[in-house]
Amino acid sequence: MNDCLFCKIIDGKIPSKKVYEDEHTYAFDDINPQAPTHVLVVPKKHVRGLKEAAAEDAQLIGYCQLAAANIARQRNIEDGYRTVLNVGPRAGQSVFHLHVHLLGGRNLQWPPG
Ligand code: 5GP
Ligand code: ZN
Repeated sequence: MNDCLFCKIIDGKIPSKKVYEDEHTYAFDDINPQAPTHVLVVPKKHVRGLKEAAAEDAQLIGYCQLAAANIARQRNIEDGYRTVLNVGPRAGQSVFHLHVHLLGGRNLQWPPG
């Protein structure tokens, strides 16, 4: 999608710190980290967000979650991490290209804010 920040990052038009990439996903460090590990895992396909996702995107969303789990294993943060999808502006979604936040490396509070 032309005007999407994360599509531009996937295409390399905007620089990012790549963590992982494969055929379906791209993962990079969040520019404003909220934990020692704060990685964004995005599908290469432009999907606006979870509420706009279609049944055909189910596998892709699961794939992003498993990519996050693999990164957590590599980072040795399996004693506690969280994968988060912010959905809609009241939940803090600010970029409208579906992304899984991987947060870890510190104690995480529950419930989240
Ligand atoms: P949201 O608030 O939509 O759930 O998450 C968007 C995330 O993207 C935020 O955590 C924000 O810090 C991150 N972000 C926004 N712009 C950029 C950017 O240009 N580069 C990177 N690496 N992260 C960004
Ligand atoms: Zn996009």
